[in-house]
Amino acid sequence: MTQLGDLIAAISNGTVEIIDLTNKLTANTPSLTLPDPFPSPAPFALEEIAHYDERGPVWRANDIHIGEHTGTHLDVPIHWITGRQGRDVSQTPLPRLIGPAVVVDFTAEAAADSDFLVTVDHLKAWQAEHGDFPENGWVLVRTGWAVHSQNAERFINADSEGMHTPGFTPECACWLAEETRISGVGVETMGLDAGLGHSMDPEMPMHWYLLGHDKYGITSLQNLDRLPATGAVIVVAPLPIVGGTGSPARVLALVERD
Ligand code: MN
Repeated sequence: MTQLGDLIAAISNGTVEIIDLTNKLTANTPSLTLPDPFPSPAPFALEEIAHYDERGPVWRANDIHIGEHTGTHLDVPIHWITGRQGRDVSQTPLPRLIGPAVVVDFTAEAAADSDFLVTVDHLKAWQAEHGDFPENGWVLVRTGWAVHSQNAERFINADSEGMHTPGFTPECACWLAEETRISGVGVETMGLDAGLGHSMDPEMPMHWYLLGHDKYGITSLQNLDRLPATGAVIVVAPLPIVGGTGSPARVLALVERD
């Protein structure tokens, strides 16, 4: 058998399961609203252009409207000023998009505190138990937030102070960017940074450090509870938008089953 033949056989007989980590795209998919005067990304919308009718007697088709940063999507370096000399989404090296994934679980912490922040010590404690983060791998941070992913109001969880969703301390963002050899970080929330990340120093530290160090981000992930802490493989498939600062992406995981 070849290596790919072995993989196909394992998928066929169920010893490798494919898990979809992508939020469904509907009119209810949460999208970001930025404060004035900043324009916000377009929410997802489906516009019917034919439906087996006079517009298309034997076909049906839609146009889609969506922002680069709407729904489950990839953030690439040029999204942030610190990565402005970096790659656009069409230039993302493909080996960065398929790699080992580890899952760090902060569901209990985020349930107790919507503003929960992951620290360096949290991640070092995980590493003491499970080993270093894999080179060219993805750190997927489970917070349970995906349960709200078709309820924009609850997902965004905003009040007059801003959004209240979990994220990372600036020190942790810097450490992930500078002290690990990962491809990137995936989260369940709408953005890589905490809801209150705009009030940190630097502002939006995950964007600032990760994208400035040629690392990537994925947001609005689902089904992380179905992945093991180590051993899964993630497949990230953004659209190759030339000049794109990110892209909606289908994100899949391969998991070995006994
Ligand atoms: Mn984004």
